[in-house]
Amino acid sequence: MKELVIVSGKGGTGKTCVAGSLAVLARNKVMVDSDVDAANLHLLLQPEEHEKRPFYGLPKAVIEKKDCLECGLCTNLCRFDAIREFVVNPSACEGCGVCFHACPVDAVKMVDHLAGYLYLSDTKYGPLVHAQLGIAEGNSGKLVSAVRQQAKEIAEKEGHDLIITDGPPGIGCPVIASLSGVDLALIVTEPTLSGIHDLERVLALVEHFQGKAAVCINKWDLSPLNSREIESFCAAGDVSVVGKIPYEPAVNDAVRLGRPVVQYDCGRVAEEVVNMWDRLVKLLSL
Ligand code: SF4
Ligand code: SF4
Repeated sequence: MKELVIVSGKGGTGKTCVAGSLAVLARNKVMVDSDVDAANLHLLLQPEEHEKRPFYGLPKAVIEKKDCLECGLCTNLCRFDAIREFVVNPSACEGCGVCFHACPVDAVKMVDHLAGYLYLSDTKYGPLVHAQLGIAEGNSGKLVSAVRQQAKEIAEKEGHDLIITDGPPGIGCPVIASLSGVDLALIVTEPTLSGIHDLERVLALVEHFQGKAAVCINKWDLSPLNSREIESFCAAGDVSVVGKIPYEPAVNDAVRLGRPVVQYDCGRVAEEVVNMWDRLVKLLSL
């Protein structure tokens, strides 16, 4: 089984558009949306949800008022300033357990904490695993790992030979959890100065995990000069530029209508995405 993850140094580069089109083009795969803070691949794939599972993050502290001596020890020890007047603020509590261990009268309990949901769905392009983390919840990396694990179980059980993940933007914890152990990371970038900087950062992360990367330049023709710079940078690092997608206003219409661009009249964009998929198939040795 192979794993392809689509990432970008920041949001808004067209990563999910690419993921939605690869969902149409790839055969026998499981799709994953690991952007658990703001999942949106489902808007393009229009899934039918068949299971919703609760996701529990790290347990959080709760002080039993009736047992508390109000000695203040826990308040002083909490590095996250999560305890005020002998009440724990669950949004600030990081679940470290220091107060639990320190309390002389066992007045602190560590309680399971519902942090979000994981969804198993069917789409006309195959299974989709996605998730939603609650507002202001941490543990996004843990939920990403749970989503990936679930996708692997489905792929093994149903005999799929590929997992395609629409990864989170940026280079933080959920991206790290999405990248570890994958066969190929497709980095979607734009030909702007900040795009080049973000590409360098995410490529460094992929290299840190000793992973293989390929690059797609979205809207490349908006700045042929910067696109050439990206191509030179990639060539120097032996990274393939597998796609150069031109700017096409109809892409916005496709997104607004919830349609993958390869199934919409997007001119040369669809053609280039198909060509890019052919190159990815070769890189993945599918
Ligand atoms: S350490 Fe225990 S007894 Fe002391 S204030 Fe905290 S919860 Fe109450
Ligand atoms: S578990 Fe840790 S972060 Fe949470 S209230 Fe206790 S000491 Fe603070």
